Amino acid sequence: MVLTRFPRVALTDGPTPIRSLDRLSTHLGPELNGVRLFVKRDDIGPVGLGGNKLRKLEFLLGQALAERADTVITVGALQSNHARLTAASAARMGLACELFLTRSVPREDADYTANGNRLLQDLFGAHVHLLPGEADSLAQAEARAEELRAEGRRVHVFPSGGSSPLGCLGYAACAAEILEQAANLGLAFARIVVPNGSSGTHAGLAAGLAAAGRDPHLAQSYTVLAPEPEAAAATLARARDTLALIDGSQTLADDAILVDGAHRGPGYGIPTEGMREAVRLMARTEGLLLDPVYSGKAFAGLLHDVRAGRYERGAAVLFVMTGGVPGLFAYRSEF
Ligand SMILES: *Cc1c(COP(=O)(O)O)cnc(C)c1O
Repeated sequence: MVLTRFPRVALTDGPTPIRSLDRLSTHLGPELNGVRLFVKRDDIGPVGLGGNKLRKLEFLLGQALAERADTVITVGALQSNHARLTAASAARMGLACELFLTRSVPREDADYTANGNRLLQDLFGAHVHLLPGEADSLAQAEARAEELRAEGRRVHVFPSGGSSPLGCLGYAACAAEILEQAANLGLAFARIVVPNGSSGTHAGLAAGLAAAGRDPHLAQSYTVLAPEPEAAAATLARARDTLALIDGSQTLADDAILVDGAHRGPGYGIPTEGMREAVRLMARTEGLLLDPVYSGKAFAGLLHDVRAGRYERGAAVLFVMTGGVPGLFAYRSEF
């Protein structure tokens, strides 16, 4: 896969580690049904506490800098990890950053409104605009960009989650990275599991797998934001756009995308019992941190499916840890 023609800035430190979950596996014992669980540590990163958005921002900021941008604007929920990492990466690159954040999650406590990602967005120097939950944040971001351009500024607007086709290239590159690491480890993963929010992570992986001549069904996501049918349709559309960017001669079938909606709970950012169990289990058996909004729900889904015997005995399954740890501080009262 040739991605070198896309400008890219370095916000990661090379391949993130893959390792097996030995202590968790011992703890689960027969409940594992013989499945071998592995994690890829995309929660580790050298900028802004790390997380999956860094891979997307490498391409988004690469293009912005190539076009001599001086300002970036993005959108998200109040506790958006993407907003935090955009602010941190903009600071690293010497760009101004504005964030349009919506109160889309029904939480009013001070942990949620002022701690976690909200605290860090301010520390990284972003100019934050707070909007009501139903506001069209992207439209307001575009309007603000026009205002700044009229003053002579050079502004790039990134969509929610950084999930434009260009941003999704970050996870297409990650798919190639996983395939190479798996070959080096002598492993053939039966599945690569990710959370699905703005769908760019899954879409990028699916496009990257297809571009590498592999089955896109190797990737599977648990949606935590849109209900299953909408999430699957959005992921397919993004994966196709991303693949078109990489290699216009390839296509993805209508059924190329596997999204599971059974562990989303009542809605985005609303905790579930499965999420609490998954976060506690990973913390106590492995010393690893999942997050309450994305990876906690996705790992709860994976645990459920492993216990339900959905995988063959001996199958190696890779869970991509996507970060979001500051969310734990925003959701303190849940733990
Ligand atoms: C944004 C995010 C996701 C979901 O990634 P998408 O590309 O938006 O689907 C998963 N985990 C964490 C911690 C995130 O911040």
